Amino acid sequence: MSDSPLLSLVIPCYNEEGNLPELFKAVSQALDPLKISYEIVITDDCSKDRSWKMLKEFGARDPRIRVQKFAFNCGESAASFAGMRASQGRYIVTMDADLQNDPRDLPAFVKALEKHDCVCGTRVKTRGDGDNFIRIASSRIANWVRNKLSGEQISDAGCTYRAFKRECVADLKFFKGMHRFLPTLIKMEGFSVTEITVSNNPRFAGKSNYGVWNRLFASFYDLLAVRWMKKRMFKYKVAESIN
Ligand code: UDP
Ligand code: MG
Repeated sequence: MSDSPLLSLVIPCYNEEGNLPELFKAVSQALDPLKISYEIVITDDCSKDRSWKMLKEFGARDPRIRVQKFAFNCGESAASFAGMRASQGRYIVTMDADLQNDPRDLPAFVKALEKHDCVCGTRVKTRGDGDNFIRIASSRIANWVRNKLSGEQISDAGCTYRAFKRECVADLKFFKGMHRFLPTLIKMEGFSVTEITVSNNPRFAGKSNYGVWNRLFASFYDLLAVRWMKKRMFKYKVAESIN
């Protein structure tokens, strides 16, 4: 992969027609000054609006925009996973298509990757800028429960704006909803994980796919599985060896 880019932006997309033109513009404004090679890998999760038609047009105009479309709606995790698999960059950045994750934070991610294997965005200080009270309260509770039960200190596990070296996810088993546990799973693989504050914009256009129920309860099973896995994983250190 000698001519593969340094950075792959991996973006799941479901009914984001109102956001795509602005997204591409904002990404190029943020990344072009850095003079690094990058690609944008978008997986259309079988949108019902004009997203796919627009993505094909953007892809035809710019080879750095690589797009694929699912045969049926598979969910955000699957779309993000398929994008990672299709990506070619040394570093992977996962972000939403709706501009809640601000591309202007991308240079800070790239910088932080010089010192860490995985960099997670946290919106704890910026939540109020883009979310209403219900969203803020529900994710605060969800993060507290998640950290308590999984013995973690990830301040914003629901934030999917993250950057990591490709090898961080090479051996992971992917499952639905795993995006909430990615920092923990990457740590379990022995990689270093840090957090940086990211801005939290209101959605540029369109509407959110999740409600409070999803935020608070849907991931509870997954949480128990991750807690179990973390407890039961091997912890050993070879002291000496010959040949
Ligand atoms: N998404 C997807 N498939 C789905 C639902 C969502 O690919 O079935 C994408 C969506 O287009 C967005 C990201 O996943 O880029 C996060 O979704 P959303 O913005 O609705 O979640 P929220 O930010 O409200 O938690
Ligand atoms: Mg969103």
